[in-house]
Amino acid sequence: MSARTIDGKAFAATVREKVSRHVARIKSEVGLTPGLAVVLVGEDPASQVYVRSKGRQTREAGMNSFEHKLDADASEAALLSIIEKLNNDPAVHGILVQLPLPGHINEDLVINSIDPSKDVDGFHISNVGLLGTGQKCMVPCTPLGCLMMLRDHHGSLSGLNAVVIGRSNIVGKPMAQLLLKDSCTVTIAHSRTGDLPDVVSDADIVVAAVGRPQIVKGDWIGKGATVIDVGINRVERNGKTALVGDVDFESASKVAGAITPVPGGVGPMTIACLLANTATACCRANGIAEPESLTA
Ligand code: NDP
Repeated sequence: MSARTIDGKAFAATVREKVSRHVARIKSEVGLTPGLAVVLVGEDPASQVYVRSKGRQTREAGMNSFEHKLDADASEAALLSIIEKLNNDPAVHGILVQLPLPGHINEDLVINSIDPSKDVDGFHISNVGLLGTGQKCMVPCTPLGCLMMLRDHHGSLSGLNAVVIGRSNIVGKPMAQLLLKDSCTVTIAHSRTGDLPDVVSDADIVVAAVGRPQIVKGDWIGKGATVIDVGINRVERNGKTALVGDVDFESASKVAGAITPVPGGVGPMTIACLLANTATACCRANGIAEPESLTA
């Protein structure tokens, strides 16, 4: 048996297309253009690439993109002052502060200074609490992208056994909350989990968000399970750098029913969901109906 490969690139294109259509409707019906502000502190090369890509895709979806760049030694107060201005700017519906921040800046303080209704990353403590209690909120982009792919593949997730490997605040925990909200029976595994292969073998859905190259092997996976690989790991292969996931794709795709590749799986969905969250935030701020397929 060979698993269906879930094409995250193609799926992300359909999400971006939906966002574009929705943005066009918001413009024509209420004369508003959704806007996303991205704040970058410092010159981390990977962060610069992400920020450029976010800006380009935001504009391509018909939304306004605002970029704010601060030097690596900018003060915490300077960053908080920019966030306050963005919180009060009616043209800005989404605010994203690119992480990680330089060590002298308190990340929690910065995230929690963003207006929760503009917190398109879904990291503000209010959104974390709302998600934990099953209420409407801004949902973190990567788990939202995983959920969309799972719903698309399975239809209903109700009653399925899901194992999330990883308990980080940005992927593992919100992923588990979303699966629970969709009535899965959820297990969260982590570095202290006793017998990880045994835990994984019972799952209908496996979400791997570990950050360890190809740690999840094919013989851990139950026959026909759906495997979502969030991991992005750079490894050296024959003197070149290659990207691999947390799942050993070759062996896992022989037993799984469906699997996301790395690259081209979860990765492209993350920015697509950022755009979706920005459109959703604009709708909520202005009492406009939001497209259900773009939210959790
Ligand atoms: P973190 O490092 O914050 O969390 C990793 C989690 O994996 C922790 O909960 C840790 O457990 C657990 N873990 C580590 N080693 C093991 C092990 N041997 N067995 C079981 N569990 C283990 O990572 P993130 O959640 O931020 O990211 C995870 C991966 O996803 C990374 O590769 C990252 O690059 C990628 N990522 C991809 C995104 C995308 O857009 N596709 C977006 C965000 C992240 P413990 O808590 O006990 O230490």
